[in-house]
Amino acid sequence: MEQLVKSTEENIQRAAEIIKKGGLVAFPTETVYGLGACALSKEAVVKIFEAKKRPHFDPLIVHIAHREEVDRICHDIPDQAWQLMESFWPGPLTLVLPKNETIPDIVTAGLDTVAVRMPAHPVALRLIECSGCPIAAPSANRFGHISPTQARDVLSDLGKAVDLILDGGRTVVGIESTVLLVTNQGINLLRPGGVSTEDIERKVGSIKIITHSQKILSPGATKIHYSPRVPLYIFNGSPQELERINEPHLVIMSPIPLSHQSMKVFPLSQDGNLSEIASHLFEEMRTLERMRVCAIIALPVEKKGLGRAIMDRLTRASA
Ligand code: AMP
Ligand code: MG
Repeated sequence: MEQLVKSTEENIQRAAEIIKKGGLVAFPTETVYGLGACALSKEAVVKIFEAKKRPHFDPLIVHIAHREEVDRICHDIPDQAWQLMESFWPGPLTLVLPKNETIPDIVTAGLDTVAVRMPAHPVALRLIECSGCPIAAPSANRFGHISPTQARDVLSDLGKAVDLILDGGRTVVGIESTVLLVTNQGINLLRPGGVSTEDIERKVGSIKIITHSQKILSPGATKIHYSPRVPLYIFNGSPQELERINEPHLVIMSPIPLSHQSMKVFPLSQDGNLSEIASHLFEEMRTLERMRVCAIIALPVEKKGLGRAIMDRLTRASA
């Protein structure tokens, strides 16, 4: 049987049967492709860690199709969490909340909290619905590598380790969800992502941004992550300094089109649009990796709006 298939209703049903039997299915979401297993089965979830070679201290996000399912897997949900669900679900926002017994410890790396999200993608939602269980799913890449934005990326990273890959075309957001820890004492940003902190603060007031040294709260937020297999450097100099670099074997990844006398330039957007840059970031990293360029010089964007998540991914890729 073919492993990579179109996301037809028939194939989604097939995928749901695999999930029910404890297998692994890669599926599209609006952020990146996920590697899913039944979140209620310890045996199924173990396979995710094995397929990705992901360390067990890195907890998974549990995906649901209806807001009411949060009550089944979480308890003592703060009012602000409901407000955030109302405003941003379905969408690229993950909430970390106190967990119920139904979720096995392996999903949460032994923590008493669980990360939950409702994805804004018809295939993901249908798959969760047909499977009849919440689906635990990290990004469907080898641990530490670039997150997959196309079905073929999943195949090249995970190959036979996944039972079925549902092809839903390129993902739209292109970077992972924003992760928030929500408590009655306040809201902490654990990972910037597809929903900007500005948009969140407009809804629920100011939130606390956890810096790297405090990341013990979010054990999975390891420093090296999302890395292409070629060195990536963030360029912080002036345009004049950039023009003075004469290294024809390097390439520039830029938020806007520009010309350079000796280096080839790969623009992520035509006009510096942050959604477009985020959407193309991982895809372009994979393209440059396949081209076997010697190194990538990435030009930064301002850490505002989606720029915060874009710079987070670039910084990790360059670590
Ligand atoms: P990924 O599945 O690769 O998108 O990563 C999910 C990320 O969510 C993890 O790496 C953690 O940083 C974060 N996360 C998941 N569960 C928890 C949790 N219970 N507490 C804090 N952070 C979490
Ligand atoms: Mg990941």
